[in-house]
Amino acid sequence: MRPRLPTRREVLSRAAAGLGALSLPACAPTAGRKPDATVADAAADASAGYIDAHSHIWTPDTDRFPLGRWITRDQMDPPSFTAEQLLATAAPHGVDRVVIIQHAPYYGDDNSYLINCARRFPGRFSVVAIVDERRTDLADHLRNLKRQGVRGLRISPTRYADRTFVKDPSNWLNAPAMRKLWALATEEDLILCPLVNVEHLPTLHPMLADFPGTRVAIDHFGHARADRPDELQALLSLSRHRRVHVKASGFYKFGDARAPYNDLVPMMRHVTEAFGVDRVLWGSDCPYQLQKGNNYGDAVAMVEHDLDFLPLSARKAILRDNAQRLFFA
Ligand SMILES: [Zn+2]
Repeated sequence: MRPRLPTRREVLSRAAAGLGALSLPACAPTAGRKPDATVADAAADASAGYIDAHSHIWTPDTDRFPLGRWITRDQMDPPSFTAEQLLATAAPHGVDRVVIIQHAPYYGDDNSYLINCARRFPGRFSVVAIVDERRTDLADHLRNLKRQGVRGLRISPTRYADRTFVKDPSNWLNAPAMRKLWALATEEDLILCPLVNVEHLPTLHPMLADFPGTRVAIDHFGHARADRPDELQALLSLSRHRRVHVKASGFYKFGDARAPYNDLVPMMRHVTEAFGVDRVLWGSDCPYQLQKGNNYGDAVAMVEHDLDFLPLSARKAILRDNAQRLFFA
């Protein structure tokens, strides 16, 4: 049991800032943690909940939002994880906005369900879309998506949007179409979100050097494992590119791969030390974070409570402010 106590640094920094009692969103009881006392502090952050920087949604209404031709409805797992379900999952844990990430295995580059949800819930969602970079009307398409609320693009070294395989993944960023996508994303200030395995992390260096103005948010720690120094180093070395951010997301698949996830604290320390606390964004990766005995609340609580080597303001940056700046500003 880890009752929430302000750290020494928090007390000092709050005192230095002339602030009163700590205020954190109320957190529902989760495994191994006592619920927080909710401290009434109406002035500070009362209206701004946390932001989940990475989740997926899909709907069983496959008539209105058809699946890709490579998948059938009975393969959707879970069969339903709608915008409504996501918001209801997040709300008890103080999270009221989510960056929704296009889910290619179901929808390919048809981003219409995400765009529809962003329209139906104004201010709640920011959309990271997937496009086929080989399309001839790429520039117009990106501008059109941006007009509909898209703020970022998910990119992959291994697969195109139609789920076919990239022939030479180690060379993916040298493909003229991908270079064009980077140039246009930079022009339109769309955040690029590489979904990469650790072996492809080094391929990002030359591209980041060529496009220093492009804002990038790497998914799921770049799949670097904390207990593999070489993998961790592959991720941390990207911090020298000033516009690269890391999504601290998908806790269910790292380390012990089970709640309460505090075995990931050393990894969080490495990442925040290398990138600085302003370039790390927490994300759940729902609905996967809800499967196999995992849960949402402990993923929030790990950052909120267990990173007690960081001041409260830094934990809030990871849980809200950095995603606000990138995806909601
Ligand atoms: Zn994901």
